Amino acid sequence: MRQTLALLFPLFLIASVCSAQQKLPPPAWAKMPQEAESARRAFSPQLRSELAQIREAAMQDDYAYEELEHITDSIGPRTQGSAQADAAVYYVADELRKLGLDVHLQPVPVRQFLRGKDAAELVEYPGQVAGAKQKIVLTALYGNAPTPEGGLTGDVVVVHSFDQLKALGRKKVAGKIVLFEVRFDSRQAMAGHSGDAYEDAVEYRDMGAQAAADAGAIACLVRSAGDGAYRLPHTGWSTDANIPAAALAAEDADLIARLAEKGAVKIHLSLPTRVGPEIQSYNVIADLKGSEHPEQVVIVSGHLDSWDLGTGAIDDGAGVVVAMETAELIHKLNLHPKRTIRVIAWMNEEAGATGAATYAKEQAGEVTNHYAAVESDEGAEHPLGFKAKISAAGQHELSPVQDALRSIGANLIQLVPDSPATDIEPLADKGVPAFAVWQDALKYFTYHHTPADTLDKVVPEELRENAACIAVLGYALANMEGPLAK
Ligand SMILES: [Zn+2]
Repeated sequence: MRQTLALLFPLFLIASVCSAQQKLPPPAWAKMPQEAESARRAFSPQLRSELAQIREAAMQDDYAYEELEHITDSIGPRTQGSAQADAAVYYVADELRKLGLDVHLQPVPVRQFLRGKDAAELVEYPGQVAGAKQKIVLTALYGNAPTPEGGLTGDVVVVHSFDQLKALGRKKVAGKIVLFEVRFDSRQAMAGHSGDAYEDAVEYRDMGAQAAADAGAIACLVRSAGDGAYRLPHTGWSTDANIPAAALAAEDADLIARLAEKGAVKIHLSLPTRVGPEIQSYNVIADLKGSEHPEQVVIVSGHLDSWDLGTGAIDDGAGVVVAMETAELIHKLNLHPKRTIRVIAWMNEEAGATGAATYAKEQAGEVTNHYAAVESDEGAEHPLGFKAKISAAGQHELSPVQDALRSIGANLIQLVPDSPATDIEPLADKGVPAFAVWQDALKYFTYHHTPADTLDKVVPEELRENAACIAVLGYALANMEGPLAK
């Protein structure tokens, strides 16, 4: 008896442990991933299959690339108020009319950028050999006050931050030419944070001239806000500080900084480039009317204006053509958005965003009918997904969009505190859910605002991925059951 009990006891133990285990719920880490209830309500099986259709069609479609080819190779640079910008406006409007969209041109005030022959050379520097001068590669910025007839010569003061300029004080800066030698952080860019790297560098291009003028400088130079490569100067907007302002190729900023460590450097600047009087240009606004709620609007957009040095392929012809392709794909697949999809080609993003301001002003009474606004303005490299100024609840609702884009590796949604793009900022500020296509942008700031922003920088396969992203998201937002959760 005693022996039997002793034999049976371990069996009891095993049986009781087993039954206890069967009653326990599975551990949390072993749960199947589950979609939020809100996403299930918002996306019908039919809508999900339409999103997959749009993605597949986009990955076979050359529409965006062909449009981009025309806008860049045939029309070319499109600075606001130029004949080419106007030609691009009429071209895009006509192309969208061909797709059956209801198109109108919204007048936008712009100031032309009148580029002259910008030039500079070092006329005195440490170690200078007899008769030698050093050519400096630069480009005037929008906001430049032209140099007087015959140019302007002055000593260069090199600083690495606004604080350093302030610390030098007026006494050491007045009557001189300030060079802000601040590097764009390429390592940050290569790690996928090119936007952050740009933000840190671009404040010197934006506000450097003002800070220099406040300290009594006679001109302001900045190291280009972008990767230092191929000795390309990057132009761009600068606040109107009433002194000449230009960006140097990174190599030239390095050269001056090296020489200035050894002694005095004198530069001669000839910057005839200036900003013209205000004239009229246009936003292109094209509606693909919603079948159920035509008054409710989802914007897909890019900006049509570009700088003058290149042909504006990556900034931002690519954004415009992928927004156009959204309409083309829906047309081709014979789909019908419930809400209106509004394709916008914005004007003058680069020199004051007056197109965005005009639209926001005219639509002030219609803001609540804007269900979402999407923009693409960081080139056409491989998209990772979207940056979005939306609520966490809204993000949960959009998991079917992430699912639809997973196969092309564009399934991330990163929430951001501020508008993820410039032209949709006035709408984002009023609470309209705002999205930007999020490209990896590994090379974007190498070519951005330079003569090398040309069609060859756009990889057709990557442009197709971008078109898939904006079309899938735009169509999803226009066809979800209700508005995105706020
Ligand atoms: Zn842009």
